[in-house]
Order: sequence, then C-alpha cells, then structure tokens
Amino acid sequence: MAGASATIPSSFFGSSGTSAGGLGVATNQQEKQGGIIFVHNLDPSVNYSEFNKTLREHLIKNGFSENTQVTMYSGWKSFKAKWKGMPTANLIIQNFYAAGAPLDDGVLGFAKLGSNTALVYGKGSILGKQHNPSMIDLINIATHEIGHGILSFDHSETGSMRAVYGSGRGRKDLIDFDSEQQETIKTSIWGQ
Ligand SMILES: [Zn+2]
Repeated sequence: MAGASATIPSSFFGSSGTSAGGLGVATNQQEKQGGIIFVHNLDPSVNYSEFNKTLREHLIKNGFSENTQVTMYSGWKSFKAKWKGMPTANLIIQNFYAAGAPLDDGVLGFAKLGSNTALVYGKGSILGKQHNPSMIDLINIATHEIGHGILSFDHSETGSMRAVYGSGRGRKDLIDFDSEQQETIKTSIWGQ
C-alpha cells in the first residue's frame, strides 16, 4: 500500500472499508489526524469554551497531537470519528452534588485504568461543604484522569500523575506530565 494515492471517501456510504483508503488503511492524510476528547457537560456552571480550549492546549504541550480536538459531545461527531479510525475518549464533568462523592476523601475525579472515559467533579456542595474547583483545578484534574483512563498511567512521584493534588485550596499552576510520560504520549495513538 505504500505510495498508493488513496483518498479518504467523502461520503460515509461510499466505502466498504476493505479497499485502499477505507478503514484500517493508513494514508498520508490520516497519519496526523489526532484524536477527539468528547466533553460531556453535567455541570452547567463550567465555562466550557475556556475549559475545552485550555485543556486542548495543555494536552498538546504535553505530547498530544497538534490535531487533538477537545469538543462537546455530539453523537454525529463521535460516529464520524470512529468511522475515520480516530481515537476518541469521553470526559464527563459531573456536578459534585449529583455525584455525591465523599469530599473528605479528597476525591476530585475518577477514571478506570485503560478505559476511555474519565470523570471530573465540578462545582457543588455535599454535607454542607462547598466544592468549588477553579478552571486551573478542573484542567489539572482532567489531565490526571485522562492520564489514568486514556493513557493507562498509574500514579507517579511527580507531575500530573502525583496521587495528592494539593492542599485542598486549589493550585495556581497547570501541572505537566513528567518527561517520560510525555515521551509515551508522543509515541501513542494520541500523539500522532
Ligand atoms: Zn489518580
């Protein structure tokens, strides 16, 4: 297939998925397509245009493809991405009150190792305590959970994957993955 000038079909029904340019055949156009992180809005208090933009820039700085998209979930976009063979993942921003997680345990998000879905707790109150993450907190927590879920990273001593986030009063800085993790990202499907 090397050198074949295959074209990406412009209409979904135009490809059987077995000929050159169909599913599974890497073309030049597809090499640097990047993946899509779909954000699911279950906390309306978050400024999603700022969140999506900031998270995207942060991920690209940390080794994700420059074509990475962070965008609100759409069934059609998800369908199209899967058809194109693009990696996709889901990031759920959950209202903290609705989530009902124990704040005393310091749980700020959740992702199962190696799954493509991550959960971040947004604003809310539980048992009279306020949970009020800043935009920077939300980005840091999202980055950490994406590390667990999408990239299968376990906790590490330094960087985004540290187990303890902070003092509970939030942070002022965006936290990067450590250099080894960034190299792993660059060579993963999310880095291409
Ligand atoms: Zn963790």
